Amino acid sequence: MKQYDCLIIGAGIGGLISALKLSSVGKKVLLLEKQPVAGGFGTSFSRKGFTFESSLHCVDALAEGGEIRQFLQESGIENKVKFIELKDFCRIIYPEHDFVADFNSDNLQNFLKNNFPAEAKNLDKLFSEFSGFYRQFDRFYYSKLPAWLNLMLCPFISPKIIKMSLFATGEVINRYIKDEKLRGMLGDIWRFIGLPPEELSAFYFLIVFRGYFYNPTVYVQGGYNRIFQAIVEKIRENGSEVKLSTTIEKIITCNGAVRGVITEKEEEFTAPVVISNANAISTLTELLDNQSVREIYKKKLSCLKKSISAFQVYLGLRFPAKQLGMSNFMYSLNSTYNHNDNFKYSLEGNYQFCPLSLVDHAQVDSSLVPEGKGSLLIMALDSYFNWNSLTDEEYRQKKIEAAQQLINRAEKYLPGLSSNIEVMEIASPRTMAHYGVSPEGAIYGFSQTVKQASINRLPQKTVIKGLILAGAWTQPGAGVHGCFVSGIDAANLALSQLR
Ligand SMILES: Cc1cc2nc3c(=O)[nH]c(=O)nc-3n(C[C@H](O)[C@H](O)[C@H](O)COP(=O)(O)OP(=O)(O)OC[C@H]3O[C@@H](n4cnc5c(N)ncnc54)[C@H](O)[C@@H]3O)c2cc1C
Repeated sequence: MKQYDCLIIGAGIGGLISALKLSSVGKKVLLLEKQPVAGGFGTSFSRKGFTFESSLHCVDALAEGGEIRQFLQESGIENKVKFIELKDFCRIIYPEHDFVADFNSDNLQNFLKNNFPAEAKNLDKLFSEFSGFYRQFDRFYYSKLPAWLNLMLCPFISPKIIKMSLFATGEVINRYIKDEKLRGMLGDIWRFIGLPPEELSAFYFLIVFRGYFYNPTVYVQGGYNRIFQAIVEKIRENGSEVKLSTTIEKIITCNGAVRGVITEKEEEFTAPVVISNANAISTLTELLDNQSVREIYKKKLSCLKKSISAFQVYLGLRFPAKQLGMSNFMYSLNSTYNHNDNFKYSLEGNYQFCPLSLVDHAQVDSSLVPEGKGSLLIMALDSYFNWNSLTDEEYRQKKIEAAQQLINRAEKYLPGLSSNIEVMEIASPRTMAHYGVSPEGAIYGFSQTVKQASINRLPQKTVIKGLILAGAWTQPGAGVHGCFVSGIDAANLALSQLR
């Protein structure tokens, strides 16, 4: 039987990045993925000549100097893909405000100060609090100290990390800002994390906030998926293996240590380390062969809150969306400034009022659509429980009705949208559960509540020696950047285990 240093279950971002890192330092890796393509939630698909991002709207840290980009450079991936500069991040629309966030936090602050002059000083104080956190976070994150020492010194050297880990985003913003509308606009990025500011960990909010409001990023020609294809190619060039369309049924353990995995075709692979990028619930409560450990995890994980799901409409258009009025790459549409209400509308499946994201990837990359045509992605956060118990007929009908409501709302900004649709695909929370292999269709793993974020997040190390988690469900959390960090950290844990 062939010997591997590390087996990796799942070729989502976390799995791909750990496989790339380990294979590039000479470790023999076998990456096993259930789907016929790599990328997990981050993959793309094509219909009648239109290529759609399955999920990803925008990914931070990909521009020159960004953390992911740097790693791609060092791993020999950069020249396999072509990056396209994005001029701005998002047009953000609220009932009385409409502005474009352009990756420059000074412009954002100036816009907010001009619109809320009475809050100008408070905004200065809030952004100075943010800057202090970022300085301390970077000192901690890029520290050369041994991890244990760095952690031990954190409360003294980087106390703001601890502070932000103890509070919800709303508590931090509301401490400085009085105006409800301004509070809402500052919290807009909650959509990318899936919890309203009142419940969302300030720690994770601030990381994501900087990713999109402070630093430029890029799109990838042909779709983000090109990066994942290039990573698979590189892993193979590094002498390791990637097996697609291969489902893992069991993780084998012996005397409290991992020994290998068994596929649904009953193939067995062994290695001293297994990284699981499959969701933590399946990994620890279904795949593990050790029943008593499974029971412990069942109890523990059933107490954790899962993140929200999503409903998406993918449209292939007769004309570029820009011709219909889509002035920017992405829109955030909000019918109220109150994100508790926004979250409630999403959970209730209230498609008339829930916040929407519109994304026009073809605006920056015309290779995604047939010549002269366009595309649009509309996303609403949604709950799996609005969909899970429908009959097939009810399900089909609800999908069409919900899609129609979202198209009607988008049409207010893009007149003529509905009469120029050539192709339509719809993904519901049930699709997220099925293709994303995600319990309750959760799109961001466990929720980033204060109790489940930062140091409180489910650790990557498990009680089984050599079994490591990577991806959205574990530390630090969801989003491509979060899962990238998780993949790197999983690889580092694997290396220390192998030593
Ligand atoms: C609708 C939507 C919009 C989003 N928008 C953005 C965005 O704009 N920007 C951003 O940064 N992030 C966004 N995200 C979040 C981001 O896509 C995810 O956080 C990230 O892709 C998750 O990566 P992961 O490493 O956790 O792996 P996953 O994507 O969860 O992949 C896990 C992989 O494991 C495989 N697997 C599971 N079980 C098994 C098994 N038993 N055997 C073999 N393989 C198995 C699965 O098939 C899958 O390929 C979005 C997500 C969704 C759903």
